[in-house]
Amino acid sequence: MSDCLFCKIRDGEIPGDLVYEGDSVLAFNDINPQAPTHVLIIPREHIATLNDLTPKEEPLVGEMIQRAVTIAREQGYAENGYRIALNCNRDAGQSVFHIHVHLLAGRSMSWPPG
Ligand code: AMP
Ligand code: ZN
Repeated sequence: MSDCLFCKIRDGEIPGDLVYEGDSVLAFNDINPQAPTHVLIIPREHIATLNDLTPKEEPLVGEMIQRAVTIAREQGYAENGYRIALNCNRDAGQSVFHIHVHLLAGRSMSWPPG
Protein backbone atom coordinates (compact mmCIF):
# COMPACT_ATOMS: atom_id res chain seq x y z
CA MET A 1 0.00 0.00 0.00
CA SER A 2 1.98 2.95 -1.36
CA ASP A 3 0.70 5.79 0.84
CA CYS A 4 1.18 3.95 4.13
CA LEU A 5 3.82 5.50 6.41
CA PHE A 6 4.84 2.22 7.99
CA CYS A 7 5.06 0.46 4.62
CA LYS A 8 7.43 3.26 3.59
CA ILE A 9 9.58 2.67 6.69
CA ARG A 10 9.52 -1.07 5.92
CA ASP A 11 10.66 -0.36 2.36
CA GLY A 12 13.33 2.17 3.39
CA GLU A 13 11.56 5.00 1.56
CA ILE A 14 11.52 7.03 4.75
CA PRO A 15 13.98 6.50 7.59
CA GLY A 16 13.10 4.47 10.65
CA ASP A 17 15.17 4.10 13.80
CA LEU A 18 15.13 0.32 13.62
CA VAL A 19 15.44 -1.83 16.73
CA TYR A 20 14.71 -5.22 15.13
CA GLU A 21 14.34 -6.59 11.61
CA GLY A 22 12.90 -10.07 11.14
CA ASP A 23 11.33 -12.00 8.29
CA SER A 24 7.78 -11.12 9.36
CA VAL A 25 8.11 -8.32 11.89
CA LEU A 26 10.01 -5.01 12.27
CA ALA A 27 10.49 -2.79 15.31
CA PHE A 28 11.55 0.86 15.42
CA ASN A 29 11.55 3.70 17.91
CA ASP A 30 8.47 5.93 17.96
CA ILE A 31 9.21 9.39 16.56
CA ASN A 32 7.18 11.02 19.38
CA PRO A 33 8.00 8.86 22.41
CA GLN A 34 5.53 8.80 25.28
CA ALA A 35 7.95 7.03 27.66
CA PRO A 36 11.75 6.66 27.92
CA THR A 37 11.36 3.55 25.76
CA HIS A 38 8.61 3.69 23.12
CA VAL A 39 9.04 1.08 20.39
CA LEU A 40 6.56 0.18 17.65
CA ILE A 41 6.39 -3.42 16.46
CA ILE A 42 4.77 -3.89 13.05
CA PRO A 43 4.17 -6.77 10.65
CA ARG A 44 5.88 -6.50 7.27
CA GLU A 45 2.49 -7.30 5.77
CA HIS A 46 0.18 -4.28 5.45
CA ILE A 47 -2.85 -4.84 7.69
CA ALA A 48 -4.80 -1.62 8.29
CA THR A 49 -6.54 -2.29 11.60
CA LEU A 50 -7.08 -5.03 14.17
CA ASN A 51 -10.51 -5.50 12.58
CA ASP A 52 -8.79 -6.85 9.46
CA LEU A 53 -7.09 -9.74 11.28
CA THR A 54 -8.15 -13.28 10.44
CA PRO A 55 -7.26 -16.59 12.09
CA LYS A 56 -4.35 -17.02 9.68
CA GLU A 57 -2.63 -14.03 11.30
CA GLU A 58 -2.65 -15.59 14.79
CA PRO A 59 1.03 -16.63 14.58
CA LEU A 60 1.97 -13.18 13.26
CA VAL A 61 0.20 -11.39 16.12
CA GLY A 62 1.86 -13.78 18.56
CA GLU A 63 5.23 -12.94 17.06
CA MET A 64 4.57 -9.19 17.43
CA ILE A 65 3.73 -9.62 21.13
CA GLN A 66 6.67 -11.93 21.70
CA ARG A 67 9.02 -9.47 20.02
CA ALA A 68 7.74 -6.65 22.25
CA VAL A 69 8.40 -8.84 25.30
CA THR A 70 11.89 -9.71 24.04
CA ILE A 71 12.79 -6.05 23.44
CA ALA A 72 11.46 -5.12 26.89
CA ARG A 73 13.57 -7.87 28.44
CA GLU A 74 16.68 -6.93 26.43
CA GLN A 75 16.32 -3.30 27.53
CA GLY A 76 16.08 -4.33 31.18
CA TYR A 77 12.39 -3.76 31.89
CA ALA A 78 11.23 -7.29 32.69
CA GLU A 79 11.26 -6.85 36.45
CA ASN A 80 9.95 -3.28 36.77
CA GLY A 81 7.39 -3.84 34.03
CA TYR A 82 6.16 -2.22 30.87
CA ARG A 83 2.99 -1.76 28.85
CA ILE A 84 2.02 -2.99 25.42
CA ALA A 85 -0.91 -1.38 23.63
CA LEU A 86 -2.71 -1.73 20.31
CA ASN A 87 -5.07 1.03 19.18
CA CYS A 88 -7.98 0.38 16.84
CA ASN A 89 -9.75 3.15 14.96
CA ARG A 90 -11.01 6.52 16.13
CA ASP A 91 -12.01 6.01 19.74
CA ALA A 92 -8.62 4.49 20.59
CA GLY A 93 -6.78 7.24 18.70
CA GLN A 94 -5.28 5.11 15.94
CA SER A 95 -3.41 7.49 13.64
CA VAL A 96 -1.39 5.14 11.42
CA PHE A 97 -3.47 2.51 9.66
CA HIS A 98 -0.92 -0.31 9.60
CA ILE A 99 -1.27 -2.35 12.78
CA HIS A 100 1.39 -1.90 15.41
CA VAL A 101 2.13 -2.86 18.99
CA HIS A 102 3.29 -0.01 21.22
CA LEU A 103 5.91 -1.01 23.80
CA LEU A 104 6.12 1.66 26.52
CA ALA A 105 8.61 1.37 29.35
CA GLY A 106 10.86 3.28 31.69
CA ARG A 107 8.32 5.15 33.80
CA SER A 108 5.37 4.23 35.93
CA MET A 109 2.05 4.43 34.10
CA SER A 110 -1.45 5.15 35.28
CA TRP A 111 -4.52 3.02 34.79
CA PRO A 112 -7.00 3.32 33.19
CA PRO A 113 -5.30 4.91 30.17
CA GLY A 114 -6.82 8.21 28.97
P1 AMP B 1 -1.30 5.09 16.81
O1 AMP B 1 -1.78 6.42 17.30
O2 AMP B 1 -1.59 3.92 17.74
O3 AMP B 1 -1.76 4.82 15.39
O4 AMP B 1 0.28 5.17 16.80
C1 AMP B 1 1.01 5.69 15.73
C2 AMP B 1 2.36 6.04 16.27
O5 AMP B 1 3.24 6.24 15.17
C3 AMP B 1 2.41 7.31 17.12
O6 AMP B 1 2.88 6.99 18.43
C4 AMP B 1 3.38 8.20 16.35
O7 AMP B 1 4.21 8.97 17.19
C5 AMP B 1 4.17 7.19 15.55
N1 AMP B 1 4.81 7.71 14.34
C6 AMP B 1 4.28 8.55 13.42
N2 AMP B 1 5.15 8.78 12.43
C7 AMP B 1 6.26 8.06 12.72
C8 AMP B 1 7.54 7.89 12.09
N3 AMP B 1 7.84 8.49 10.93
N4 AMP B 1 8.46 7.09 12.70
C9 AMP B 1 8.16 6.49 13.86
N5 AMP B 1 6.98 6.60 14.51
C10 AMP B 1 6.05 7.38 13.94
ZN1 ZN C 1 1.34 -0.34 5.60
